[in-house]
Amino acid sequence: MMKYSVFSLLKNTLSGHTKWQPAWREPEPRKEYDVIIVGGGGHGLSTAYYLAKEHGITNVAVLEQSWLGSGNIGRNTTIIRSNYMLPGNNPFYEWSMKLWEGLEQDFKFNAMVSQRRVLNLCHTDAQRDAFARRGNAMRIDGVDAELLDAHDVKAMYPFLDFNNARFPIKGGLLQRRGGTVRHDAVAWGYARGADMRGVDIIQNCEVKGIRIENGRVLGVDTSKGFIGCRKLGLATAGNSSETAAMAGLRLPIESHVLQAFVSEGLKPYIDGVVTFGAGHFYVSQSDKGGLVFGGDIDGYNSYARRGNLPMVEHVIEAGVAMIPALARVRVLRSWGGIMDMSMDGSPIIDKTSIEGLYLNAGWCYGGFKATPASGWCFAYTIAKNELHELNAAYRLDRFRRGYMIDEKGQGATPNLH
Ligand SMILES: Cc1cc2nc3c(=O)[nH]c(=O)nc-3n(C[C@H](O)[C@H](O)[C@H](O)COP(=O)(O)OP(=O)(O)OC[C@H]3O[C@@H](n4cnc5c(N)ncnc54)[C@H](O)[C@@H]3O)c2cc1C
Repeated sequence: MMKYSVFSLLKNTLSGHTKWQPAWREPEPRKEYDVIIVGGGGHGLSTAYYLAKEHGITNVAVLEQSWLGSGNIGRNTTIIRSNYMLPGNNPFYEWSMKLWEGLEQDFKFNAMVSQRRVLNLCHTDAQRDAFARRGNAMRIDGVDAELLDAHDVKAMYPFLDFNNARFPIKGGLLQRRGGTVRHDAVAWGYARGADMRGVDIIQNCEVKGIRIENGRVLGVDTSKGFIGCRKLGLATAGNSSETAAMAGLRLPIESHVLQAFVSEGLKPYIDGVVTFGAGHFYVSQSDKGGLVFGGDIDGYNSYARRGNLPMVEHVIEAGVAMIPALARVRVLRSWGGIMDMSMDGSPIIDKTSIEGLYLNAGWCYGGFKATPASGWCFAYTIAKNELHELNAAYRLDRFRRGYMIDEKGQGATPNLH
């Protein structure tokens, strides 16, 4: 496998960039693996990477039904942050942020990690109080948080609509270490790092069934035939209900489509991530100049990767209420991804009642920022057959036991999370 360095860059420049090698192999599946991960998205690939790197487990295959990056890992609005409040979430997302901070050096790939800050706007006194509480909870856990007043926000982003009669901006909660990361490069970096350590990444290999005997996983039936394994991890995000159903599990998860939008290229305009607190709208500007933005999920259950026009209107209305100048910007493209919406808005990283079967699911809107910690914890759980303290709260049975991690306090209403 090709190593990247200043020397390889020089050598390839001299040969006209015709001799670069692929970043990972295209192996045929073996008959059997120690571990199979279903789903070659961010979470599946990072799990394989950390299984090999942290636990020395390299007889691993990642089975992806399509091409790497075709799922949500390549469809999200690229925002990372760790501004969570509840005990189960806060340490986990902060660990993810710490992994992001060292990721490019770790997997030796440029993922354009950009800690350009994330600002959540507040529009009422009650919302400001809630942000103060959240910021304090973050600081108690050692996470950076600053409460800004309207004056501070105006100095940062003078083009926001501060005098909107319905949604006046009262201030905001700022996390300076939050930001954006180039999403597909995250998949490529993890894939390359896992492959270098011996993991087989098998694209265009759909898992169609899970074989179980005497309460134990034996392997998977795939479009490339049966592949045996001792341990099987499901990391299929929007398709989690379907893959878990192959093992007879019914998950507390609904699938919904979430859309993302990119505008025409503009001169540098928004240097951080800004979110609208009176509705659901978040925006940043890509290095190419396009504004990258999104909002709520489409309210109906769906496995389609494109959304409907009423939600387009809803998202853009919120955007224009926050930044009136957006009304003059043209949208160039939009797409959708399938969200695995859990009933409390928090994820599941756990063992299951079937021996050798592990589950990683329920990422809702927020799984991209979790990619490093999710893979790290899932690898730990698969390798040791136990939960790490960072994912101890993400148990599947919390819905039965009543230990919900309801960060937004919205109850079992996925479209509100
Ligand atoms: C429009 C949009 C915007 C978002 N914005 C953000 C954001 O700004 N910040 C943030 O933190 N999160 C965001 N998210 C959420 C985030 O992208 C997801 O939570 C996260 O990517 C999910 O994990 P993943 O990368 O493993 O998923 P995926 O990339 O979807 O990986 C799952 C993979 O499983 C494969 N698969 C499914 N079934 C099978 C099968 N039977 N056999 C083999 N393979 C199978 C799929 O093809 C897919 O590649 C956003 C999502 C969308 C759609």
